Amino acid sequence: MICIRCGLCCLNLDVMIIDPGSIRPDGTVNPDDPAPALRKPAKERCPHLSFLGDEAVCAIHHLPCYRATPCDLFDQMGPDDAVCLLGVYLRSLDQEGI
Ligand code: SF4
Ligand code: SF4
Repeated sequence: MICIRCGLCCLNLDVMIIDPGSIRPDGTVNPDDPAPALRKPAKERCPHLSFLGDEAVCAIHHLPCYRATPCDLFDQMGPDDAVCLLGVYLRSLDQEGI
C-alpha cells in the first residue's frame, strides 16, 4: 500500500498509540511503564503528528517503539502499489463536510 502521507488517519481514527511519556531516549518503550499505550480518540490529533507543508510526519515512525503498533501494522488488501483507500475515503468525507 502506498501512503501519500495525508495524515487523515492520524487525525480521524480511534487508535491505540505509544504514550509519548513512555518513550525512552533510545526510542524504546519504558519496560517499567505499566501502561505505555494510550487511546487516541477519533477526530483528535495524534500527539506524534506534525505537518511539513501538506505532508504528514509521524515523530515515532522510525523508532523501535513504533514497531508492531496498530499504526505500523495498518495495511489493506490488494496490490502493494495501490494508493491507500482509507485516505481516499477520508478525503471524500472531508470534501462533503462530514
Ligand atoms: S503514532 Fe504516528 S502513525 Fe500513529 S496515529 Fe500517531 S502520528 Fe499517526
Ligand atoms: S490515511 Fe492512508 S494515505 Fe493518509 S496518512 Fe493514513 S495511511 Fe497514509
